[in-house]
Amino acid sequence: MTVQHWIGGDPVQASRHLPVVDPAYAKPVRQVAMADAYIVHDAVTKALAAYPAWRNTPPNKRAQVMYRFKMLLERDADELCELISEEHGKVLEDAMGELKRGIENVEYACGIPELLKGEYSHNAGPGIDTWSNHQPVGVVAGITPFNFPVMVPLWMFPMAIACGNCFILKPSEQVPSVAIKMAELLEEAGLPAGVFSVIQGDREAADALIDHPNVKALSFVGSTPVAKAIYQRGAALGKRVQALGGAKNHAVVLPDADLENAANTLIGAAYGSAGERCMAISVVVCVGEKTADVLADKIAEKAERLNIGPGTEPGLDMGALVNQAHRDRVAGYIAQGEAAGATLRLDGRKHPLVENSPGYFLGATLFDHVTPAMRIYRDEIFGPVLCVVRVESFDQAVELINAHQYGNGTCLFTREGEAARRFADEIEVGMVGINVPLPVPVAFHSFGGWKESLFGDLHAYGPDAVRFYTRRKAISQRWPQQSAQESAQFSFPSH
Ligand code: NAD
Repeated sequence: MTVQHWIGGDPVQASRHLPVVDPAYAKPVRQVAMADAYIVHDAVTKALAAYPAWRNTPPNKRAQVMYRFKMLLERDADELCELISEEHGKVLEDAMGELKRGIENVEYACGIPELLKGEYSHNAGPGIDTWSNHQPVGVVAGITPFNFPVMVPLWMFPMAIACGNCFILKPSEQVPSVAIKMAELLEEAGLPAGVFSVIQGDREAADALIDHPNVKALSFVGSTPVAKAIYQRGAALGKRVQALGGAKNHAVVLPDADLENAANTLIGAAYGSAGERCMAISVVVCVGEKTADVLADKIAEKAERLNIGPGTEPGLDMGALVNQAHRDRVAGYIAQGEAAGATLRLDGRKHPLVENSPGYFLGATLFDHVTPAMRIYRDEIFGPVLCVVRVESFDQAVELINAHQYGNGTCLFTREGEAARRFADEIEVGMVGINVPLPVPVAFHSFGGWKESLFGDLHAYGPDAVRFYTRRKAISQRWPQQSAQESAQFSFPSH
């Protein structure tokens, strides 16, 4: 079976294909069509044709499509989660969590009539009324990563479409199927053809989308080198770009924290989805030697007992990594950390599934005594590898995090209000949790990191999505009396 593009409401054939592999069994399950510039142009042309009518569709009618879409996503939740799990490797319960967090964004988009209301000033000047409104941008595109095949696209297109734009999605070529399933559901929800399209492909399709003169804005989520390149390429063409990149998320644990609870939440945050989350905790900064000794023991003991296996089987904690190259890269980092002198408390390469299964498995890995100079500390590994760094004080922990190139998420475990307040205030990271290990904001706030974790200014989803997917226009209007004589004024008008 071939996963096709979805253009103008129809599946479209392509000439180049790639296999789609189930990482739990290392087995090709289908193939995916790959788009070239010609196919991208076709999608943009059909989106452009659909745009005038969709732009002029009242926001409450656009919201009704979103209400129906939400119900259809819920109706077909199991099918969607099986597809996510099969192509990505994550466990079914985690796929369901991803879907539910994605649906929150559809719910937020249902409120679009309220969000687009704009601002109005009566008598802004003598007899002059001024109002500002939000107008859609036109044809906009989204390029998304492999690790959240449903949720990250849902960060983008429900709000883009609800704002009156036409949207072209280029999902990761590693997890292409759910994008087509969502296109079918949008059609069933009553979305007119051409308002939402899917272009399958890799860099060739991504570049063609960025370069196309009729693609006016681009949302990207993926690794930092690609995010930076896409931001620069789009910005050089004068486009609106938001490009979310990679991460290295630190959890700080103070001596007064409840260490048993901290260990329980940290293993979920570090090893859930095999660490392939941009908000995964990959570094634990322990303040004080005793905190580190106790916490490292607890994490090692709990992480060793994780249930690992094919994500489509129920009741597991962790599935396979997305592909062989990535699994090998993560295993390479484990070797590097060992060679650099970090203490390897738990070695995921020794998990029985690594030997006994054809799938791309790695067990949970824990390093202690990691230093900031080590590559396992500096680089985003994006796998089930957790590093413990030991510091002497809260101030050292804050300095360490603020010096890191990434600034996506962070969290603090403590019972001390003063430290919590200082942390939230001083830390140079876009999303902060206090005793919340994965502080992914709800859909009515926006999501975004700082430093090398986001290029552009507006964050993803929530209120920032209205700003990103619309242009504001300020209109001033007056109706002078027909009989009034008006003289020319050469000084700049003031009230
Ligand atoms: P990736 O950068 O390899 O790919 C992301 C998307 O870009 C895919 O659709 C891919 O086809 C496309 N792409 C790849 N190379 C490209 C190129 N040179 N030019 C144009 N397009 C290109 O990322 P990935 O491996 O799919 O996803 C994992 C990365 O995404 C991690 O770094 C993770 O931290 C990051 N991520 C970040 C967030 C966030 O919100 N900040 C969320 C999820 C994932």
